[in-house]
Amino acid sequence: MVRRVAVVGAGASGLAAIKCCLDEGLEPTCFERSEDIGGLWRYTDQAEEGRASIYRTVFTNSCKEMMCYSDFPFPDDHPNYMHNTKLQHYLCKYAEHFDLLRHIRFKTLVTKIKKRPDFSVTGQWEVVTQRDGKEEMAIFDAVMICSGHHVYPNLPLTDFPGIRKFKGRYFHSREYKKPEEFRGKKVLVIGLGNSGSDIAVELSAVASQVYLSSRSGSWVMSRVWDNGYPWDMLVVTRFRSWLENILPQALSNWLYVRGMNRFFKHENFGLMPLNRTSRKEPVFNDDLPSRIACGMVVIKPNVKEFRETSVLFQDGTVQDDVDVVIFATGYGYSYPFMEDDSIIKSRDNQVTLYKGILPPQLEKPTMAVIGLVLSLGPIIPTADLQSRWAVKVFQGRWVDMHWAKVCFLLMGSSISQQQQAGSKQKLGQYGDSTTLQTDYVTYMDQLASAIGVKPNVLKLLLTDPRLALEIIFGPCSPYQFRLVGPGKWSGARKAILTQWDRTLR
Ligand code: FAD
Repeated sequence: MVRRVAVVGAGASGLAAIKCCLDEGLEPTCFERSEDIGGLWRYTDQAEEGRASIYRTVFTNSCKEMMCYSDFPFPDDHPNYMHNTKLQHYLCKYAEHFDLLRHIRFKTLVTKIKKRPDFSVTGQWEVVTQRDGKEEMAIFDAVMICSGHHVYPNLPLTDFPGIRKFKGRYFHSREYKKPEEFRGKKVLVIGLGNSGSDIAVELSAVASQVYLSSRSGSWVMSRVWDNGYPWDMLVVTRFRSWLENILPQALSNWLYVRGMNRFFKHENFGLMPLNRTSRKEPVFNDDLPSRIACGMVVIKPNVKEFRETSVLFQDGTVQDDVDVVIFATGYGYSYPFMEDDSIIKSRDNQVTLYKGILPPQLEKPTMAVIGLVLSLGPIIPTADLQSRWAVKVFQGRWVDMHWAKVCFLLMGSSISQQQQAGSKQKLGQYGDSTTLQTDYVTYMDQLASAIGVKPNVLKLLLTDPRLALEIIFGPCSPYQFRLVGPGKWSGARKAILTQWDRTLR
Protein backbone atom coordinates (compact mmCIF):
# COMPACT_ATOMS: atom_id res chain seq x y z
CA MET A 1 0.00 0.00 0.00
CA VAL A 2 1.28 3.46 -0.87
CA ARG A 3 1.41 5.64 2.24
CA ARG A 4 4.49 7.89 2.24
CA VAL A 5 4.89 10.13 -0.81
CA ALA A 6 7.88 12.34 -1.64
CA VAL A 7 7.04 15.52 -3.55
CA VAL A 8 9.96 17.28 -5.27
CA GLY A 9 9.39 21.05 -5.44
CA ALA A 10 6.85 23.41 -3.84
CA GLY A 11 5.76 25.44 -6.87
CA ALA A 12 2.18 25.50 -8.17
CA SER A 13 2.40 21.79 -9.08
CA GLY A 14 4.01 20.68 -5.83
CA LEU A 15 1.32 22.41 -3.77
CA ALA A 16 -1.39 20.61 -5.76
CA ALA A 17 0.42 17.30 -5.22
CA ILE A 18 0.65 17.79 -1.44
CA LYS A 19 -3.03 18.73 -1.20
CA CYS A 20 -4.15 15.72 -3.26
CA CYS A 21 -2.07 13.33 -1.15
CA LEU A 22 -3.64 14.75 2.02
CA ASP A 23 -7.15 14.46 0.52
CA GLU A 24 -6.51 10.76 -0.05
CA GLY A 25 -5.12 10.12 3.42
CA LEU A 26 -1.50 9.77 2.27
CA GLU A 27 1.54 11.24 4.03
CA PRO A 28 3.33 13.69 1.71
CA THR A 29 6.76 15.12 2.42
CA CYS A 30 7.66 17.93 0.04
CA PHE A 31 11.31 18.91 -0.49
CA GLU A 32 11.91 22.45 -1.73
CA ARG A 33 15.44 23.61 -2.49
CA SER A 34 14.68 27.31 -1.98
CA GLU A 35 13.43 29.09 1.13
CA ASP A 36 9.79 29.55 0.12
CA ILE A 37 6.92 28.20 -1.96
CA GLY A 38 5.82 29.52 -5.38
CA GLY A 39 8.60 28.22 -7.67
CA LEU A 40 8.60 30.25 -10.89
CA TRP A 41 6.13 32.80 -9.54
CA ARG A 42 8.34 33.94 -6.65
CA TYR A 43 10.29 36.79 -8.23
CA THR A 44 13.83 37.49 -7.03
CA ASP A 45 16.28 40.07 -8.39
CA GLN A 46 18.88 37.36 -8.98
CA ALA A 47 18.26 34.06 -10.74
CA GLU A 48 18.69 31.15 -8.30
CA GLU A 49 20.36 27.92 -9.34
CA GLY A 50 17.87 25.15 -10.09
CA ARG A 51 14.78 27.38 -9.86
CA ALA A 52 12.92 29.09 -12.70
CA SER A 53 13.65 32.80 -12.99
CA ILE A 54 11.20 35.40 -14.29
CA TYR A 55 11.47 39.10 -15.18
CA ARG A 56 9.88 41.71 -12.94
CA THR A 57 6.90 42.41 -15.19
CA VAL A 58 5.64 38.88 -15.87
CA PHE A 59 1.83 38.77 -15.95
CA THR A 60 -0.26 35.64 -16.38
CA ASN A 61 -1.61 34.68 -19.79
CA SER A 62 -4.44 32.71 -18.30
CA CYS A 63 -7.21 34.55 -16.49
CA LYS A 64 -8.08 34.02 -12.86
CA GLU A 65 -11.23 31.97 -13.46
CA MET A 66 -9.33 29.53 -15.67
CA MET A 67 -6.07 29.43 -13.75
CA CYS A 68 -7.21 28.68 -10.21
CA TYR A 69 -7.11 25.47 -8.21
CA SER A 70 -10.43 23.73 -8.79
CA ASP A 71 -11.68 24.19 -5.21
CA PHE A 72 -10.11 27.55 -4.44
CA PRO A 73 -11.22 30.50 -6.62
CA PHE A 74 -9.15 33.68 -6.66
CA PRO A 75 -10.34 36.49 -4.41
CA ASP A 76 -12.96 38.70 -6.06
CA ASP A 77 -10.75 41.78 -6.09
CA HIS A 78 -7.94 40.18 -8.14
CA PRO A 79 -7.71 41.40 -11.75
CA ASN A 80 -8.39 38.90 -14.50
CA TYR A 81 -4.74 38.67 -15.52
CA MET A 82 -2.28 38.94 -12.70
CA HIS A 83 1.15 40.28 -11.99
CA ASN A 84 3.46 37.59 -10.63
CA THR A 85 3.27 39.05 -7.09
CA LYS A 86 -0.51 38.55 -7.05
CA LEU A 87 -0.23 34.97 -8.23
CA GLN A 88 2.43 34.32 -5.60
CA HIS A 89 0.08 35.79 -2.99
CA TYR A 90 -2.66 33.42 -4.15
CA LEU A 91 -0.33 30.41 -3.91
CA CYS A 92 0.54 31.43 -0.33
CA LYS A 93 -3.16 31.74 0.54
CA TYR A 94 -3.82 28.30 -0.94
CA ALA A 95 -1.01 26.74 1.08
CA GLU A 96 -2.26 28.47 4.22
CA HIS A 97 -5.91 27.56 3.67
CA PHE A 98 -5.21 23.85 3.24
CA ASP A 99 -2.43 23.83 5.85
CA LEU A 100 0.20 22.59 3.41
CA LEU A 101 3.29 24.35 4.77
CA ARG A 102 3.92 21.88 7.56
CA HIS A 103 4.51 19.17 4.97
CA ILE A 104 7.28 21.13 3.22
CA ARG A 105 10.99 20.97 4.09
CA PHE A 106 12.55 24.17 2.80
CA LYS A 107 16.19 24.65 1.79
CA THR A 108 16.30 20.92 1.12
CA LEU A 109 17.66 19.79 -2.21
CA VAL A 110 16.73 16.41 -3.62
CA THR A 111 20.02 15.05 -4.95
CA LYS A 112 19.14 11.50 -5.86
CA ILE A 113 16.09 9.36 -6.48
CA LYS A 114 16.57 5.69 -7.15
CA LYS A 115 14.59 2.49 -7.07
CA ARG A 116 14.92 0.28 -4.00
CA PRO A 117 16.50 -3.11 -4.74
CA ASP A 118 13.09 -4.75 -4.15
CA PHE A 119 11.28 -2.17 -6.35
CA SER A 120 9.57 -4.76 -8.52
CA VAL A 121 7.74 -6.01 -5.43
CA THR A 122 7.37 -2.89 -3.27
CA GLY A 123 7.49 -0.03 -5.81
CA GLN A 124 9.53 1.93 -3.24
CA TRP A 125 12.11 4.66 -3.85
CA GLU A 126 15.20 5.89 -2.03
CA VAL A 127 15.24 9.68 -1.90
CA VAL A 128 18.49 11.39 -0.94
CA THR A 129 18.34 15.01 0.20
CA GLN A 130 20.85 17.65 1.24
CA ARG A 131 20.26 20.41 3.77
CA ASP A 132 23.01 22.60 5.27
CA GLY A 133 25.58 20.27 3.73
CA LYS A 134 24.08 17.28 5.57
CA GLU A 135 22.90 14.33 3.53
CA GLU A 136 19.89 12.20 4.44
CA MET A 137 18.22 9.22 2.83
CA ALA A 138 14.59 8.20 3.29
CA ILE A 139 12.38 5.56 1.75
CA PHE A 140 9.08 6.49 0.10
CA ASP A 141 6.27 4.43 -1.36
CA ALA A 142 5.77 6.88 -4.24
CA VAL A 143 7.36 10.01 -5.73
CA MET A 144 5.74 13.04 -7.40
CA ILE A 145 8.17 15.11 -9.46
CA CYS A 146 7.10 18.76 -9.51
CA SER A 147 10.48 20.37 -10.16
CA GLY A 148 9.35 22.61 -13.06
CA HIS A 149 10.44 22.83 -16.68
CA HIS A 150 11.51 26.44 -17.13
CA VAL A 151 14.82 26.01 -15.36
CA TYR A 152 17.49 24.82 -17.77
CA PRO A 153 17.99 27.38 -20.58
CA ASN A 154 18.17 26.24 -24.16
CA LEU A 155 21.02 28.36 -25.57
CA PRO A 156 21.74 26.99 -29.07
CA LEU A 157 24.89 29.04 -29.75
CA THR A 158 26.17 26.54 -32.31
CA ASP A 159 23.20 27.48 -34.54
CA PHE A 160 24.49 31.07 -34.63
CA PRO A 161 27.76 31.30 -36.61
CA GLY A 162 30.09 34.05 -35.43
CA ILE A 163 28.48 34.53 -32.01
CA ARG A 164 31.85 34.07 -30.27
CA LYS A 165 33.27 36.96 -32.35
CA PHE A 166 30.40 39.26 -31.33
CA LYS A 167 31.77 42.01 -29.09
CA GLY A 168 28.47 43.04 -27.51
CA ARG A 169 26.80 41.35 -24.58
CA TYR A 170 24.66 38.24 -25.08
CA PHE A 171 22.69 36.11 -22.64
CA HIS A 172 19.62 33.89 -22.22
CA SER A 173 16.28 35.47 -21.30
CA ARG A 174 16.42 33.61 -17.97
CA GLU A 175 18.90 36.28 -16.84
CA TYR A 176 16.75 39.21 -17.95
CA LYS A 177 15.11 41.00 -15.02
CA LYS A 178 14.30 44.64 -15.80
CA PRO A 179 14.76 47.19 -18.58
CA GLU A 180 16.67 50.08 -16.94
CA GLU A 181 20.19 48.94 -17.79
CA PHE A 182 19.33 48.79 -21.51
CA ARG A 183 18.45 52.47 -21.82
CA GLY A 184 19.72 53.88 -25.13
CA LYS A 185 21.05 50.51 -26.34
CA LYS A 186 20.37 48.71 -29.60
CA VAL A 187 18.97 45.32 -28.62
CA LEU A 188 18.28 42.18 -30.65
CA VAL A 189 15.87 39.67 -29.09
CA ILE A 190 15.96 36.21 -30.66
CA GLY A 191 12.79 34.12 -30.39
CA LEU A 192 9.13 35.03 -30.76
CA GLY A 193 7.72 33.18 -27.77
CA ASN A 194 5.98 34.75 -24.80
CA SER A 195 9.23 35.78 -23.09
CA GLY A 196 10.82 37.12 -26.30
CA SER A 197 7.85 39.29 -27.18
CA ASP A 198 7.37 40.54 -23.60
CA ILE A 199 11.02 41.50 -23.36
CA ALA A 200 11.05 43.17 -26.80
CA VAL A 201 7.98 45.25 -25.95
CA GLU A 202 9.30 46.22 -22.53
CA LEU A 203 12.72 47.22 -23.86
CA SER A 204 11.24 49.20 -26.73
CA ALA A 205 10.26 51.89 -24.21
CA VAL A 206 13.89 52.52 -23.17
CA ALA A 207 16.22 51.09 -25.84
CA SER A 208 17.24 53.16 -28.87
CA GLN A 209 15.95 50.33 -31.08
CA VAL A 210 14.71 46.79 -30.60
CA TYR A 211 14.88 44.04 -33.24
CA LEU A 212 12.91 40.85 -32.76
CA SER A 213 14.16 37.91 -34.80
CA SER A 214 11.91 34.96 -35.51
CA ARG A 215 12.72 31.78 -37.41
CA SER A 216 9.18 30.59 -37.95
CA GLY A 217 6.71 33.28 -36.80
CA SER A 218 3.97 32.85 -34.21
CA TRP A 219 0.34 33.58 -33.67
CA VAL A 220 0.12 36.64 -31.43
CA MET A 221 -3.09 36.97 -29.47
CA SER A 222 -4.60 39.56 -27.21
CA ARG A 223 -5.63 38.69 -23.67
CA VAL A 224 -8.71 40.85 -24.24
CA TRP A 225 -11.21 39.31 -26.69
CA ASP A 226 -14.74 39.96 -27.93
CA ASN A 227 -16.47 42.65 -25.89
CA GLY A 228 -13.39 42.86 -23.68
CA TYR A 229 -13.78 39.41 -22.08
CA PRO A 230 -10.70 37.28 -21.28
CA TRP A 231 -9.63 35.28 -24.34
CA ASP A 232 -9.53 31.96 -22.53
CA MET A 233 -13.06 32.25 -21.12
CA LEU A 234 -14.35 32.53 -24.69
CA VAL A 235 -11.99 30.14 -26.45
CA VAL A 236 -11.44 27.27 -23.99
CA THR A 237 -14.94 25.78 -24.01
CA ARG A 238 -16.31 22.27 -24.38
CA PHE A 239 -18.38 23.33 -27.37
CA ARG A 240 -15.34 24.62 -29.28
CA SER A 241 -13.29 21.60 -28.38
CA TRP A 242 -16.09 19.34 -29.57
CA LEU A 243 -16.42 21.31 -32.83
CA GLU A 244 -12.67 21.11 -33.35
CA ASN A 245 -12.84 17.34 -32.99
CA ILE A 246 -15.78 16.71 -35.34
CA LEU A 247 -15.27 19.26 -38.12
CA PRO A 248 -13.33 18.19 -41.23
CA GLN A 249 -9.68 19.13 -40.74
CA ALA A 250 -9.68 21.66 -43.61
CA LEU A 251 -12.67 23.55 -42.19
CA SER A 252 -11.35 23.45 -38.66
CA ASN A 253 -7.98 24.80 -39.89
CA TRP A 254 -9.67 27.57 -41.86
CA LEU A 255 -11.69 28.63 -38.80
CA TYR A 256 -8.56 28.46 -36.66
CA VAL A 257 -6.50 30.71 -38.96
CA ARG A 258 -9.41 33.13 -39.25
CA GLY A 259 -9.75 33.28 -35.45
CA MET A 260 -6.03 33.85 -34.95
CA ASN A 261 -6.05 36.69 -37.46
CA ARG A 262 -8.94 38.58 -35.89
CA PHE A 263 -6.65 40.69 -33.64
CA PHE A 264 -4.57 41.75 -36.65
CA LYS A 265 -3.48 40.23 -39.94
CA HIS A 266 -0.21 38.48 -39.13
CA GLU A 267 1.03 38.51 -42.69
CA ASN A 268 1.10 42.32 -42.68
CA PHE A 269 3.33 42.34 -39.62
CA GLY A 270 5.81 39.69 -40.73
CA LEU A 271 4.64 37.37 -37.97
CA MET A 272 2.74 34.70 -39.90
CA PRO A 273 3.71 31.24 -38.56
CA LEU A 274 5.40 29.06 -41.17
CA ASN A 275 2.99 26.31 -40.19
CA ARG A 276 -0.17 28.38 -39.95
CA THR A 277 -2.48 25.56 -38.87
CA SER A 278 -0.18 24.53 -36.04
CA ARG A 279 -1.95 24.60 -32.66
CA LYS A 280 1.26 25.23 -30.78
CA GLU A 281 1.07 27.67 -27.89
CA PRO A 282 0.35 31.20 -29.18
CA VAL A 283 2.06 34.30 -27.89
CA PHE A 284 -0.05 36.59 -25.74
CA ASN A 285 0.91 40.19 -26.16
CA ASP A 286 -1.52 43.07 -26.43
CA ASP A 287 1.19 45.63 -27.21
CA LEU A 288 3.42 43.95 -29.78
CA PRO A 289 1.40 44.91 -32.89
CA SER A 290 1.30 48.57 -31.85
CA ARG A 291 5.03 48.63 -31.08
CA ILE A 292 5.68 47.18 -34.52
CA ALA A 293 3.31 49.71 -36.09
CA CYS A 294 5.21 52.52 -34.33
CA GLY A 295 8.57 51.15 -35.48
CA MET A 296 9.74 50.64 -31.90
CA VAL A 297 10.10 46.90 -32.51
CA VAL A 298 11.37 45.79 -35.91
CA ILE A 299 10.65 42.21 -36.94
CA LYS A 300 13.58 40.35 -38.50
CA PRO A 301 14.02 36.83 -39.93
CA ASN A 302 16.49 34.30 -38.57
CA VAL A 303 20.09 35.40 -37.95
CA LYS A 304 22.53 34.15 -40.59
CA GLU A 305 25.73 35.33 -38.96
CA PHE A 306 27.07 37.47 -36.14
CA ARG A 307 29.96 39.80 -36.81
CA GLU A 308 31.96 41.85 -34.27
CA THR A 309 29.37 44.59 -33.89
CA SER A 310 26.74 43.79 -36.48
CA VAL A 311 24.28 41.07 -37.38
CA LEU A 312 23.50 39.63 -40.81
CA PHE A 313 19.97 38.27 -41.22
CA GLN A 314 18.76 35.61 -43.59
CA ASP A 315 17.03 38.15 -45.85
CA GLY A 316 20.44 39.75 -46.50
CA THR A 317 19.85 42.83 -44.31
CA VAL A 318 22.54 43.89 -41.85
CA GLN A 319 22.04 45.73 -38.56
CA ASP A 320 25.07 47.64 -37.35
CA ASP A 321 26.10 48.62 -33.85
CA VAL A 322 24.04 46.04 -31.98
CA ASP A 323 24.92 46.29 -28.27
CA VAL A 324 22.97 43.43 -26.72
CA VAL A 325 21.54 40.10 -27.88
CA ILE A 326 18.96 38.31 -25.73
CA PHE A 327 18.32 34.67 -26.57
CA ALA A 328 14.67 34.01 -25.71
CA THR A 329 15.10 30.48 -27.02
CA GLY A 330 13.22 28.54 -24.39
CA TYR A 331 14.14 25.77 -22.01
CA GLY A 332 15.10 22.11 -21.98
CA TYR A 333 14.09 19.41 -19.54
CA SER A 334 16.43 17.95 -16.98
CA TYR A 335 16.04 15.74 -13.95
CA PRO A 336 19.54 15.79 -12.45
CA PHE A 337 18.37 13.99 -9.31
CA MET A 338 17.19 10.88 -11.17
CA GLU A 339 19.81 8.17 -10.89
CA ASP A 340 18.44 6.83 -14.14
CA ASP A 341 16.78 9.67 -16.02
CA SER A 342 15.83 7.34 -18.87
CA ILE A 343 12.91 6.46 -16.57
CA ILE A 344 11.43 9.81 -17.58
CA LYS A 345 13.29 10.53 -20.80
CA SER A 346 13.52 7.77 -23.30
CA ARG A 347 13.81 7.37 -27.07
CA ASP A 348 15.94 10.17 -28.51
CA ASN A 349 15.84 12.04 -25.22
CA GLN A 350 12.10 12.67 -25.67
CA VAL A 351 9.76 12.56 -22.71
CA THR A 352 7.36 9.64 -23.12
CA LEU A 353 4.98 9.44 -20.23
CA TYR A 354 1.63 7.68 -20.02
CA LYS A 355 -1.03 10.42 -19.96
CA GLY A 356 1.91 12.82 -19.75
CA ILE A 357 2.39 11.70 -16.13
CA LEU A 358 3.58 8.12 -15.55
CA PRO A 359 6.86 6.61 -16.79
CA PRO A 360 5.55 3.51 -18.54
CA GLN A 361 8.51 1.20 -18.11
CA LEU A 362 8.32 1.00 -14.32
CA GLU A 363 7.25 -2.34 -12.87
CA LYS A 364 5.08 -0.45 -10.37
CA PRO A 365 3.22 2.81 -11.09
CA THR A 366 4.69 4.74 -8.16
CA MET A 367 6.23 7.77 -9.88
CA ALA A 368 4.35 10.73 -11.37
CA VAL A 369 5.69 13.76 -13.22
CA ILE A 370 3.33 16.67 -12.58
CA GLY A 371 3.07 19.89 -14.59
CA LEU A 372 5.15 18.76 -17.56
CA VAL A 373 2.41 18.45 -20.17
CA LEU A 374 1.63 21.77 -21.81
CA SER A 375 -2.03 21.23 -22.40
CA LEU A 376 -2.51 24.59 -24.16
CA GLY A 377 -4.37 25.52 -21.04
CA PRO A 378 -3.48 26.83 -17.59
CA ILE A 379 -1.00 24.83 -15.56
CA ILE A 380 -2.58 25.08 -12.10
CA PRO A 381 -5.82 23.18 -12.82
CA THR A 382 -3.87 20.78 -15.04
CA ALA A 383 -1.41 19.98 -12.23
CA ASP A 384 -4.32 19.70 -9.82
CA LEU A 385 -6.15 17.09 -11.91
CA GLN A 386 -2.93 15.27 -12.79
CA SER A 387 -2.17 14.96 -9.09
CA ARG A 388 -5.65 13.66 -8.30
CA TRP A 389 -5.28 11.10 -11.10
CA ALA A 390 -1.76 10.08 -10.06
CA VAL A 391 -2.69 9.60 -6.42
CA LYS A 392 -5.56 7.32 -7.45
CA VAL A 393 -3.18 5.31 -9.63
CA PHE A 394 -0.70 5.03 -6.73
CA GLN A 395 -3.45 3.58 -4.62
CA GLY A 396 -4.73 1.29 -7.36
CA ARG A 397 -8.27 2.19 -6.27
CA TRP A 398 -9.85 3.16 -9.56
CA VAL A 399 -9.11 -0.18 -11.19
CA ASP A 400 -8.73 -3.51 -9.51
CA MET A 401 -5.12 -4.38 -8.91
CA HIS A 402 -5.02 -7.28 -11.33
CA TRP A 403 -6.25 -5.06 -14.15
CA ALA A 404 -3.79 -2.36 -13.12
CA LYS A 405 -0.99 -4.83 -13.71
CA VAL A 406 -2.35 -5.71 -17.13
CA CYS A 407 -2.71 -2.00 -17.96
CA PHE A 408 0.81 -1.42 -16.94
CA LEU A 409 2.16 -4.18 -19.12
CA LEU A 410 0.26 -2.59 -21.98
CA MET A 411 1.32 0.95 -21.28
CA GLY A 412 4.64 0.70 -23.11
CA SER A 413 2.95 -0.42 -26.31
CA SER A 414 0.06 2.00 -25.81
CA ILE A 415 2.51 4.85 -25.70
CA SER A 416 4.37 3.83 -28.81
CA GLN A 417 1.06 3.34 -30.60
CA GLN A 418 -0.10 6.73 -29.41
CA GLN A 419 3.15 8.20 -30.58
CA GLN A 420 3.00 6.65 -34.00
CA ALA A 421 -0.65 7.50 -34.52
CA GLY A 422 -0.27 10.85 -32.82
CA SER A 423 2.97 11.93 -34.42
CA LYS A 424 1.30 12.84 -37.71
CA GLN A 425 -1.48 14.70 -35.99
CA LYS A 426 0.91 16.26 -33.47
CA LEU A 427 3.19 17.54 -36.17
CA GLY A 428 0.24 18.86 -38.11
CA GLN A 429 -1.55 20.45 -35.21
CA TYR A 430 1.05 21.35 -32.64
CA GLY A 431 4.13 21.87 -34.79
CA ASP A 432 7.44 20.13 -34.13
CA SER A 433 7.82 21.74 -30.72
CA THR A 434 9.82 19.67 -28.25
CA THR A 435 7.30 20.49 -25.56
CA LEU A 436 4.45 18.14 -24.85
CA GLN A 437 1.33 19.81 -26.12
CA THR A 438 -2.21 18.56 -26.27
CA ASP A 439 -5.79 19.90 -26.38
CA TYR A 440 -6.76 21.10 -22.91
CA VAL A 441 -10.41 20.06 -22.69
CA THR A 442 -9.81 16.63 -24.23
CA TYR A 443 -6.86 15.97 -21.95
CA MET A 444 -8.63 17.14 -18.79
CA ASP A 445 -11.71 15.06 -19.64
CA GLN A 446 -9.59 11.95 -20.14
CA LEU A 447 -8.05 12.28 -16.69
CA ALA A 448 -11.37 13.25 -15.12
CA SER A 449 -13.21 10.27 -16.66
CA ALA A 450 -10.63 7.85 -15.36
CA ILE A 451 -11.18 8.95 -11.76
CA GLY A 452 -14.92 9.58 -11.98
CA VAL A 453 -14.94 13.38 -11.76
CA LYS A 454 -16.01 14.32 -15.29
CA PRO A 455 -19.38 16.11 -15.23
CA ASN A 456 -22.17 14.17 -16.91
CA VAL A 457 -23.52 16.87 -19.22
CA LEU A 458 -26.46 14.83 -20.58
CA LYS A 459 -27.69 14.07 -17.08
CA LEU A 460 -27.24 17.70 -16.09
CA LEU A 461 -29.30 18.84 -19.09
CA LEU A 462 -32.24 17.03 -17.52
CA THR A 463 -31.58 17.82 -13.86
CA ASP A 464 -29.89 21.23 -13.91
CA PRO A 465 -30.14 22.74 -17.42
CA ARG A 466 -28.75 26.15 -16.42
CA LEU A 467 -25.57 24.56 -15.13
CA ALA A 468 -25.39 22.19 -18.11
CA LEU A 469 -25.55 25.03 -20.65
CA GLU A 470 -22.82 26.95 -18.82
CA ILE A 471 -20.68 23.81 -18.82
CA ILE A 472 -21.19 23.21 -22.54
CA PHE A 473 -20.96 26.74 -23.91
CA GLY A 474 -19.21 28.59 -21.12
CA PRO A 475 -15.52 28.43 -20.18
CA CYS A 476 -14.16 25.02 -19.20
CA SER A 477 -13.21 26.38 -15.80
CA PRO A 478 -11.54 24.12 -13.23
CA TYR A 479 -14.59 23.98 -10.90
CA GLN A 480 -16.24 21.63 -13.44
CA PHE A 481 -14.02 18.85 -12.16
CA ARG A 482 -15.27 19.26 -8.58
CA LEU A 483 -18.99 18.83 -9.25
CA VAL A 484 -19.11 15.05 -8.82
CA GLY A 485 -17.09 12.07 -7.66
CA PRO A 486 -14.19 11.83 -5.27
CA GLY A 487 -13.01 15.26 -4.11
CA LYS A 488 -16.40 16.84 -4.88
CA TRP A 489 -16.55 20.45 -3.64
CA SER A 490 -19.89 21.85 -2.50
CA GLY A 491 -19.00 25.33 -3.80
CA ALA A 492 -18.35 24.15 -7.39
CA ARG A 493 -21.83 24.79 -8.83
CA LYS A 494 -22.00 28.28 -7.40
CA ALA A 495 -18.46 29.05 -8.56
CA ILE A 496 -19.41 28.09 -12.15
CA LEU A 497 -22.62 30.10 -12.16
CA THR A 498 -20.89 33.21 -10.78
CA GLN A 499 -17.65 33.08 -12.80
CA TRP A 500 -18.73 35.89 -15.16
CA ASP A 501 -19.67 38.10 -12.21
CA ARG A 502 -16.20 37.72 -10.71
CA THR A 503 -14.67 38.41 -14.11
CA LEU A 504 -16.56 41.69 -14.47
CA ARG A 505 -15.81 42.75 -10.94
P1 FAD B 1 8.00 25.69 -10.82
O1 FAD B 1 7.14 26.84 -10.57
O2 FAD B 1 9.22 25.87 -11.65
O3 FAD B 1 8.42 25.08 -9.39
C1 FAD B 1 9.36 24.03 -9.24
C2 FAD B 1 9.91 24.05 -7.82
O4 FAD B 1 10.73 22.90 -7.64
C3 FAD B 1 10.78 25.27 -7.53
O5 FAD B 1 10.34 25.90 -6.35
C4 FAD B 1 12.19 24.68 -7.37
O6 FAD B 1 12.97 25.38 -6.43
C5 FAD B 1 11.89 23.26 -6.89
N1 FAD B 1 12.93 22.28 -7.19
C6 FAD B 1 13.48 22.03 -8.41
N2 FAD B 1 14.40 21.05 -8.30
C7 FAD B 1 14.43 20.67 -7.00
C8 FAD B 1 15.19 19.71 -6.27
N3 FAD B 1 16.09 18.92 -6.88
N4 FAD B 1 14.99 19.61 -4.94
C9 FAD B 1 14.07 20.39 -4.32
N5 FAD B 1 13.34 21.32 -4.95
C10 FAD B 1 13.50 21.45 -6.28
N6 FAD B 1 1.50 28.93 -16.93
C11 FAD B 1 0.17 29.22 -16.91
O7 FAD B 1 -0.63 28.33 -16.70
N7 FAD B 1 -0.27 30.49 -17.10
C12 FAD B 1 0.59 31.52 -17.31
O8 FAD B 1 0.16 32.64 -17.48
C13 FAD B 1 2.00 31.24 -17.35
N8 FAD B 1 2.90 32.22 -17.55
C14 FAD B 1 4.23 31.92 -17.60
C15 FAD B 1 5.15 32.95 -17.83
C16 FAD B 1 6.51 32.68 -17.91
C17 FAD B 1 7.49 33.79 -18.16
C18 FAD B 1 6.96 31.35 -17.77
C19 FAD B 1 8.42 31.00 -17.86
C20 FAD B 1 6.06 30.32 -17.52
C21 FAD B 1 4.69 30.59 -17.43
N9 FAD B 1 3.75 29.59 -17.19
C22 FAD B 1 2.42 29.89 -17.15
C23 FAD B 1 4.17 28.19 -16.98
C24 FAD B 1 4.72 27.94 -15.56
O9 FAD B 1 5.71 26.99 -15.71
C25 FAD B 1 3.67 27.45 -14.60
O10 FAD B 1 2.69 28.46 -14.40
C26 FAD B 1 4.11 27.03 -13.19
O11 FAD B 1 4.94 27.97 -12.59
C27 FAD B 1 4.79 25.69 -13.16
O12 FAD B 1 4.81 25.29 -11.80
P2 FAD B 1 5.66 24.07 -11.30
O13 FAD B 1 5.34 23.91 -9.86
O14 FAD B 1 5.43 22.91 -12.19
O15 FAD B 1 7.20 24.50 -11.51
